[in-house]
Amino acid sequence: MRVMTGVAALLAVAMAQPAVQTTRSQAGSQAPPRPLRIIAFGAHPDDAELKASGVAALWAAAGHKVKFVAMTNGDVGHFESAGGPLAKRRQAEVAECAKILGIETEVLDIHDGELMPSLENRRTVARLIRDWQADIVMGHRPYDYHPDHRYTGVLIDDAAVVVVAPFFVPDTRPTPRNPVFMYYSDNFQDPKPFTPSMVVGIDAVAEKKWQCIGAMPSQFGDKDSWQARTLPNVPQGDGERAAYLLDIVKKRNMAVADQYRDRLIALYGEERGRKLQYAEAFQLGQYGRQASPDELKAMFPLQ
Ligand SMILES: [Zn+2]
Repeated sequence: MRVMTGVAALLAVAMAQPAVQTTRSQAGSQAPPRPLRIIAFGAHPDDAELKASGVAALWAAAGHKVKFVAMTNGDVGHFESAGGPLAKRRQAEVAECAKILGIETEVLDIHDGELMPSLENRRTVARLIRDWQADIVMGHRPYDYHPDHRYTGVLIDDAAVVVVAPFFVPDTRPTPRNPVFMYYSDNFQDPKPFTPSMVVGIDAVAEKKWQCIGAMPSQFGDKDSWQARTLPNVPQGDGERAAYLLDIVKKRNMAVADQYRDRLIALYGEERGRKLQYAEAFQLGQYGRQASPDELKAMFPLQ
């Protein structure tokens, strides 16, 4: 009975609290808003870091709570090592990134290349979202190039409705309402291109993002890392190679800023919007809560 009382009390507190940050424009609001809780899923231990570590660092710096989850342990994506040793190395790398960004991280023990949109994994994703009591969930679109990316997108879509159902995975507390679901940017065109709902300038925390990329040599440094072996013209020297691979990541973030420059100007004003060099972009998913553009502006760290 004591346990039941405790859970009921927790639920009552959760229901009483606003699920999203109160906008600062609401004059006279006195109570400090509860920090937002964001959970960002990536297929591999580098995907959330690549797509969302800028916005994560900005949220964390503003006092919000961010967690990255890698759906697989990354034990295949390397040309020299694999299995347990590689998975352990990658776990340590994303933990280092999380420290740099000021967030939490978790890597699921599912083999790289073998993620399936199974009922078991749907339950796992729903539990993670509920345990985090997420206001915002992020992940890949289900149209991405890699099966693990696609199925991460499918699993997130599938979890969107059930996270509020009390009797789905009833060992976890449902979220008080549907979180907002946001997809990472990508350049795939079929069956439909990515359309940004939010573009975040990340210049203020860009160095943290580059440090995070630098903390993942198994992905962006080793001569036998996936990037070093699959991208063209990668230099041989260790230092040059890491700099070259980091530069590619920087250019991708610059391309996002340039591609959605109009959105940056609309969100940040003419002067700042033109100056921002690096950006991350996100699309509102259609199965979670349909936040209005103003609500999204209030939730995202656009300082
Ligand atoms: Zn990946």
